[in-house]
Amino acid sequence: MSNRNLSLKVYSDLFSVLGRPYLRTWLDGLPTRLDAVFGSARHGDWPAWQAALDGLPKIDASVVDLNADSILVDGGCNEEQRDRIESLLLRLHPWRKGPYAIHGIHIDTEWRSDLKWRRLKDHIQPLEGRTVLDVGCGNGYHAWRMIGCGAELVIGVDPTLLSVAQFLAIKHFAGDFPVHVLPLGIEDVPLNLRAFDTVFSMGVLYHRRSPFDHLLELKGCLRSGGELVLETLVVDDGLGQVLVPEDRYAQMRNVWFIPSCATLLSWLRRCGYRNGRVVDVTRTTADEQRSTDWMRFQSLSDFLDPANPELTIEGLPAPVRAVFIAESP
Ligand code: SAH
Repeated sequence: MSNRNLSLKVYSDLFSVLGRPYLRTWLDGLPTRLDAVFGSARHGDWPAWQAALDGLPKIDASVVDLNADSILVDGGCNEEQRDRIESLLLRLHPWRKGPYAIHGIHIDTEWRSDLKWRRLKDHIQPLEGRTVLDVGCGNGYHAWRMIGCGAELVIGVDPTLLSVAQFLAIKHFAGDFPVHVLPLGIEDVPLNLRAFDTVFSMGVLYHRRSPFDHLLELKGCLRSGGELVLETLVVDDGLGQVLVPEDRYAQMRNVWFIPSCATLLSWLRRCGYRNGRVVDVTRTTADEQRSTDWMRFQSLSDFLDPANPELTIEGLPAPVRAVFIAESP
C-alpha cells in the first residue's frame, strides 16, 4: 500500500472529526505531515510491522470490554487463527504498555498500565462526552480506557512508530471506536489549539528538556476550564528541589527534570494553571514494571541497586511517580 493510501485508510475517520470547528486548524497540513512520517525512512522496521498488520485476520468481535484491566476483545476465533495472530503480534515486540486479552491471547506487557489508571481514574473529571488528548500515549492502552469511561473522542500522539503499529493491531480487532493514535510528538500539535476538555501527559515531562515549555504547550491544548492530568517521576523533597541526573537515570538516557511534588505544583502555578494538586504518589515496583514474554529486554529490577532497592544502579533515588491535576484558566 502506498503511504498516501495508508494514511488515508487509517485516518480517514479522523480527518472527518478534525473537520469540527474547534479542531479545524489541525486538519490543514495533517495528511501531508502523516504521509511524510510514514514515507520517511525514520524507522527501517516499519515495512515489517506493516506486513504484520496486513497479515492479521479479520475476526468479528462479539465481546469488547474497555473497562477491564486487561483490555478484552473476544469472539469466534479458531486455534489456527489464534496461533497466527499471536505470532504476528509478537513481531511487534517489545510490548511495553497494556495488558490486552485479544481472542484468548494474553499480551502480558512490561508495564501493568492498569495500575496507573486505577490510581487516577477516581480523581479526574468524569470523561463522559469529553474530547481528550493523550500526549505520549504509547500504544494507546489508556486511550482505550478513556473510551471505556465514555469519552466522545480520544486523540493520542506518540512519535514511536512501533507503538502506533501496536495500537493499529488492537484497533483492527476492537473495531471502530472514536480513538486515534497519531505518529506525532506534542510539537506537531498546533500551539494554542484550545480544543480539548481533558489533556493527559503521563510519563513524558521528564523526557522534555524544557519542562515549562511542555506545561505551556499542554495548557494551550486545553479549552478554558479544561483539565490537565499530568503523571511524572518525582523526588521526595521540598519546594524548589529538583533532580537533574547528570547521566543516565535507571538506565534511561533522556531523563532531564525530576522535581519534588511541591516544586512541580509551583511550576504549574507559574505556568498559569489553577487548583493544581497531587492525587497520588507511588513507588514503582516490579509488580508494575517487569520483563515478560512480550517484553524480553531488561526491566526495573535490572535498573535498581541490588544492595539497596531505594536507589537506581546509578545511585539516584529509585523511581517514584506522582499524578497531578490542574485546570486551565
Ligand atoms: N503515557 C503512557 C506512555 C508513557 S512512555 C503511560 O503513561 O503509560 C512515554 C511516551 O512518550 C513514549 O511512548 C514516547 O514515545 C513518548 N514521547 C516521547 N517524546 C514525545 C513527544 N515529544 N511528544 C509526545 N510523546 C512523546
